[in-house]
Amino acid sequence: MYLSENSKEIQASKIRKMFNKSLKYDKVINFTLGEPDFTASQNVVEAGCQAIMNGNTKYSENAGILPLRQEISKILLKEYEVYYNPKNEITVTVGAMGALYLTLKSILNPGDEVIICEPFWTNYLQQVKMCGGVPVLISCKEENDFMLNLQDLENAITKKTKAILLNSPNNPTGSVLNLENLKGIAQIAQKNKVIVISDEVYKGILYDDKDYSSIASLEGMKERTIVINSFSKEYAMTGWRIGYAAGPEEIIANITKLQENVSACAAMPCQYAALEALRGSQDFKKFMLNQYRQRRDRIIKRIREIPRLSCKSPKGTFYAFVNIKELGITSDEFADKLLESKQVVVVPGTAFGDGGEGYVRISYATSMEMIERGLELIEEFVREMI
Ligand code: PLP
Repeated sequence: MYLSENSKEIQASKIRKMFNKSLKYDKVINFTLGEPDFTASQNVVEAGCQAIMNGNTKYSENAGILPLRQEISKILLKEYEVYYNPKNEITVTVGAMGALYLTLKSILNPGDEVIICEPFWTNYLQQVKMCGGVPVLISCKEENDFMLNLQDLENAITKKTKAILLNSPNNPTGSVLNLENLKGIAQIAQKNKVIVISDEVYKGILYDDKDYSSIASLEGMKERTIVINSFSKEYAMTGWRIGYAAGPEEIIANITKLQENVSACAAMPCQYAALEALRGSQDFKKFMLNQYRQRRDRIIKRIREIPRLSCKSPKGTFYAFVNIKELGITSDEFADKLLESKQVVVVPGTAFGDGGEGYVRISYATSMEMIERGLELIEEFVREMI
């Protein structure tokens, strides 16, 4: 009775609902989780503890400690060949979620439209609505490698379009937008004076660097792109809650101003841990990537051995987006029945919008042992059904 109309519209994610359903079983094989099964490396944990011991436990600047922003700037220069001034073009936030929310809050007037590629990470839809915007969905199809069809994009643009939200590597499909696609999107964004929000949180889990470009690197795009990234996936630091936004000074200053009013800053000891993640050895990151690669290869091989299932090999992330269309049941039925009969929990594709119907997402941020056993049970489940 006291809740606002706006907040009542916001839905809890189906991923969480699926996870909750699984809690009534004693033992389940859980393929729903969107976070690394690793914990942050020892040097990062020590840097966080040391920061606490050293008394780095106060509010930091709203934009985050300068050394961290400087280190982020170096990485962006090295990897994107774009210079972001650490003083005013980068702000450290409470995870990528914080960066996304404050970006949307900074740019949206009521009724402004944000184009989102479907299937999409569920929070996008909710965050756009929380900020008074209107999500406009464009379906990205498997036949097109889940790329954004440029004609569909042109058709979706109206006078109210404020931003296009990209997510590459993509959750849930594991696809990566190729350079040609990005160039087309950039042209349309420039022609229509639209901002691009580029969520790149899975960039650190990319199986072949050659596949990847950031739209921010393209001619004329730095000034209209907000790059969002975080330490959650790349450095297995989900609970440390450190992310950032890099982009035009005006928007970054506004995000920082809003952050002052919401959380002041990201937790200071965690910022020191993130600094160590960037400055210290990258061996652990390489180790994790290698583990994900082995799991991906195994999981894709196994799925392809199961009749009527198919799956494109993900180019990034730790998700396999499995096509179940040939089974003739819905994604929700598949997920529910699999849980009931085999105690294996996957996320129905509809958790990522209606365009995800006909798919289920399997997260392989779990051990090889779980993958082997889980895939055996999925195979049994499918064979019993057909
Ligand atoms: N963006 C995408 C596409 C995600 O899948 C997630 C988490 O699952 C996030 C952003 C949130 O990242 P963070 O933990 O940095 O808030």
